[in-house]
Amino acid sequence: MANPPPPLTLIDHPLVQHKLSLMRRRETSTTDFRQLLRETATLMAYEITRTLPLEPHDIVTPVAPTTAPMLAGEDLCLVSIMRAGDGLLQGMLDLMPSARVGHVGLYRDPVTLSAVEYYFKMPRDLDKRLVIVVDPMLATGNTAIAAVSRLKQAGAKTIKFLCLLTVPEGLSAFHDAHPDVPVFAAGYDEKLNEKGYIVPGIGDAGDRLFGTV
Ligand code: URA
Repeated sequence: MANPPPPLTLIDHPLVQHKLSLMRRRETSTTDFRQLLRETATLMAYEITRTLPLEPHDIVTPVAPTTAPMLAGEDLCLVSIMRAGDGLLQGMLDLMPSARVGHVGLYRDPVTLSAVEYYFKMPRDLDKRLVIVVDPMLATGNTAIAAVSRLKQAGAKTIKFLCLLTVPEGLSAFHDAHPDVPVFAAGYDEKLNEKGYIVPGIGDAGDRLFGTV
C-alpha cells in the first residue's frame, strides 16, 4: 500500500485561492504579482497564527472593568529565505507588526547541488520564539531543509513553514528531514519538471516578484 502523503495544512480560503490563481497567470504584471503575494501572505498569516495561545488580562473599557483575552506573549520571529521569501514578509508584518525578522540566504552549488549559506542574520533568543519560515515555493525541498536545519542549529525549537505552493516530492523530502515542522501552503501542485520548477506553479517566484529574468 502506498504511504499516505505527509501532513500539510492547505489554506483553501476562497480569497487565498482566487489570488493564487491570479498569480499563476503569466500575464500578471510584476506590480500586481507583488501586491497579490503581499495580500495572500496576510491571509495566510491569519491561518498560521490560529493556534497562538491566549491569556486573560484585566482591562478597563470606557464602560466597565473586564477580563479580556490577549496573546500569551509567545514572541514571533519571521524568517525569510532570500530572495523570494521577502515577498511574503510585509503582508505578514501587517498583521504581526512586532514580530522580529530573520533572513537566510542559501544558493545551490552548481557542482555538488548542495545548499551553501551566504547570509544568516537572526534576532536574539531564537529558542524562545515561534519561528515562521517563509518561502513561496517548497519545490525540491533542498533549500527549505537546509534553512530549517540551520535554524535548529542556531537554537530554534518551535518552527512552522509557510509557502504558497508545494509538490508531493518536496513535501515528502521536507517531512522526512523535519517531521516536527508543520507545513502550510495555499496550493499542492502536481509535480516538479526536469528543471525543478513546480508544475503548473507560478514560474520563478523571485523573478516574478522583482521583475528580473
Ligand atoms: N522556485 C521557484 O521560484 N519556482 C519554482 O517553480 C520552483 C522553485
